[in-house]
Amino acid sequence: MTIERSLVLVKPDGFQRGLTGEVLRRIEGKGYRLVALSVLTPTREQLAAHYAEHEGKPFYAPLVDFMSSGPVAAVVIEGQDSVKGFRSLAGATNPTDAAPGTIRGDLGRDWGTKVQQNIVHGSDSHESATREIGIWFPDLEG
Ligand code: ADP
Ligand code: MG
Repeated sequence: MTIERSLVLVKPDGFQRGLTGEVLRRIEGKGYRLVALSVLTPTREQLAAHYAEHEGKPFYAPLVDFMSSGPVAAVVIEGQDSVKGFRSLAGATNPTDAAPGTIRGDLGRDWGTKVQQNIVHGSDSHESATREIGIWFPDLEG
């Protein structure tokens, strides 16, 4: 049993389209617990830390512009293997490739924009989750 936390962001496209409830419904439906929830417009400093691994890539600047363009819902979830499990719920990064039934497959878009508007972010490893939770929820206890 690996009960762990993961960091989920409902990105500005998902938030603006009113899909936060739909994302939370899928998370809770899967049996994950909500540990923390916040609505905020990310700063460029937060995004530089969050997306440090992507600095220098062609989509980095559009990604930071997009992610700072409006409110997001930042969510800490907890449950059995929740990092891998949420990535399964989210689907492939590119919404065109993402399977139907996944959040990105059902709801994401990647046409007409420089950056994939794929509704959600989910941590990609236990270590990333710990690091990212520290960026978005610095005061959250253990
Ligand atoms: P994921 O969010 O699935 O972990 P990455 O960490 O690789 O994907 O990328 C971070 C985000 O950057 C993606 O969710 C997507 O919004 C955007 N992105 C990634 N690759 C591309 C690309 N080739 N073109 C446009 N946007 C991209
Ligand atoms: Mg990633």
